[in-house]
Amino acid sequence: MATFSQSNVAKGSNAVIDFCCSPCLEHNIYQLAEVYCDNCLKLYCAKCITLHGQLFGKHIAYGRGDTSKWPVAKEVEDFLLKCDLHEDKRLEMFCDDHNQHCCDNCAFLNHRQCAKVTLLSESVKGPPPDLQLLARKIQNILEELNKLQNYWDTNMQSVQASYDKQLHEIRQTRQNMNSILDAIEKTTVKELDDKMTSLKASLKTDVDNCSKLYNELKLLGDAIHDIVDKGKVELSFIASKKCLEKIKHSETYLKGKSVWVTNLLTFQADSDVQQYFSQLSGLGRIVLSSKALLCWMNFLFPKLLKLAFICYKESSVKCDFFIVSVCFVMLMLNNYT
Ligand SMILES: [Zn+2]
Ligand SMILES: [Zn+2]
Ligand SMILES: [Zn+2]
Ligand SMILES: [Zn+2]
Repeated sequence: MATFSQSNVAKGSNAVIDFCCSPCLEHNIYQLAEVYCDNCLKLYCAKCITLHGQLFGKHIAYGRGDTSKWPVAKEVEDFLLKCDLHEDKRLEMFCDDHNQHCCDNCAFLNHRQCAKVTLLSESVKGPPPDLQLLARKIQNILEELNKLQNYWDTNMQSVQASYDKQLHEIRQTRQNMNSILDAIEKTTVKELDDKMTSLKASLKTDVDNCSKLYNELKLLGDAIHDIVDKGKVELSFIASKKCLEKIKHSETYLKGKSVWVTNLLTFQADSDVQQYFSQLSGLGRIVLSSKALLCWMNFLFPKLLKLAFICYKESSVKCDFFIVSVCFVMLMLNNYT
């Protein structure tokens, strides 16, 4: 009951009144009860208990520290008596056929054909149920649920961690591919550079040879122009000899270069590589791997251990075998998980 009241208090910003002062309530004032009088069977707030004390000094009263002696809180009673199907209805009957409590709505809708539907007061019989045992069971289940909840929370965190790790892996894979592509690009550009260097060298040789020939021929042409009609027999003879030689050389050169070649560098992309990349739907596959944790081990292990312990106490020959088997199973499951 205390837990129920506390949870109600915790929900609101203002304290929820679990027990109201009875006299104050008669005046429609909701005042927190501080004491329960076992003689009056009434609850009193701090103000009213003073008056009560003056009037009934000998009455036995229990304070907040003794709430186990207090009546059941109205909220708890309402909560327990509320019909699960009809929120605004109280459970008033019990159907023996369905082994179910029901409100008058339920009784009318679902239990009209039932042979034995009795009032709650009539259906209560036999020894009182062991509520302590039920409370312990609930506590155990709550602990299990709590463990499960924690497990999901941890699971959520590890899923997030694995996501982050895999995202990093994807980015890393991309980086590796970038590095590979960078290296390939570098090699290709180097090939272009090498070709360009040798082409330039070859063109420079052509330019040099051509201009050398031009200059030599031009000088000879100018010289002939200077000695013509000057009666210089020897010079004329040498000049003509040199000219014929140079002209022959030039003509051979020009004949060799009769086809003017234009050199252009062209890059032919490897279409296989591009096609391969364009066909890829991703950098890799995302694989979901799950690891099954055997929850039933939590239930089975204590039972196995108990059996092993009983056998051990009886210390029969078979039991040694049993203990070994249990240990083996535990080992196997441990490895499995
Ligand atoms: Zn009062
Ligand atoms: Zn009293
Ligand atoms: Zn109902
Ligand atoms: Zn029924």
